[in-house]
Amino acid sequence: EEGRVYNFAAGPACLPYNVLKEAQADLINWKGTGASVLEMSHRSKQFLSIIQKAEADLRELLAIPDNYKVLFLQGGATSQFSAIPLNLAGPEDAVDYVVTGSWGSKAVQEAGKYAKANLAATGKPGKFTDIPPQSEWKLTQGAKYLHICANETIQGVEFKEYPEVEGETVLVADMSSNFCSKPVDVSKFGLIYAGAQKNVGPSGVTIVIVREDLLGKAQPSTPVMLDYKIHSNNESLYNTPPCFSIYMTGLVFADLLKQGGLAAVAKKNEEKAQLLYDAIEGSDGFFKCPVAKPVRSLMNVPFTMRDPELEAEFLKEATAQGLIQLKGHRSVGGVRASIYNALPLAGIQKLVHLMKDFQAKHS
Ligand code: PMP
Repeated sequence: EEGRVYNFAAGPACLPYNVLKEAQADLINWKGTGASVLEMSHRSKQFLSIIQKAEADLRELLAIPDNYKVLFLQGGATSQFSAIPLNLAGPEDAVDYVVTGSWGSKAVQEAGKYAKANLAATGKPGKFTDIPPQSEWKLTQGAKYLHICANETIQGVEFKEYPEVEGETVLVADMSSNFCSKPVDVSKFGLIYAGAQKNVGPSGVTIVIVREDLLGKAQPSTPVMLDYKIHSNNESLYNTPPCFSIYMTGLVFADLLKQGGLAAVAKKNEEKAQLLYDAIEGSDGFFKCPVAKPVRSLMNVPFTMRDPELEAEFLKEATAQGLIQLKGHRSVGGVRASIYNALPLAGIQKLVHLMKDFQAKHS
């Protein structure tokens, strides 16, 4: 892995080294076909085998029940902010949003264009450092769905358990930044969506897992590219899909299965996050994580420094040591370590080492 850095970017993010090597070996001549996946017709039997295996492996990883469809779509998770209300609600239907950070804020704002979007709860008054207690949520009876962001990538706030919904209301979750980081009981959700570019691949493909009975009720004005039923009827091949991104994502799914599946992956992720949070907690306030302990993300760890003046120097030293992309999101500042599945434990050990050294030098 000579010359490779530890990449703490929030997304697009690091990919497993062995997956990159495999893609490299396949790049010019995929399995003796004489052509690259980059050049392959999406209608060819070769590509069909790629997308079908990707779906089968994802189904195995998450134990996705048979009455759920898996869609490989384009337009990023952001397109889903519009597609979800358009497909699951009518213009006069209520839809509930619990907002715990920047992405949930964007989702509810977009939903308001297509349905009666209700802000059931928001962590904004507390600067998104906690999830408002469920007893304070103002849910709408008969809402078509309740939307949450399972892991807020910028604020580092993660749901550790998922809310129950009542009656016909279904739970919808944006899992972009913790997708496939741990097992999930898919049957508790009406719909799960995730952009690939954090945990499971490069940018360009967004995965939607949706309960079959929710399909076919899209608003008449829904753009064809946002209509789940169209994509479902055409096995994600209604138009030209992002073939190479789907291929890469498939390689990542296979790799996760090889690692022992998501329970094994979750265990590694817990160990990695614990090491970093312990270092922050053990720094006597030199480093500080603003997020309430019970909801701290295992994927995105934001922290600040007691002396913000030292931040630039810290980031510079990190980069010099091959620990890159640690700058916090421009909207919140500070430092953020995104420690997705593919970020090795050794990278976190090196970061923790730097934090200790840096503190010793500046105390
Ligand atoms: N939701 C979450 C939780 C995200 O982290 C992101 C991207 N950072 C998005 C949605 C938007 O995804 P995209 O850029 O793929 O539209």
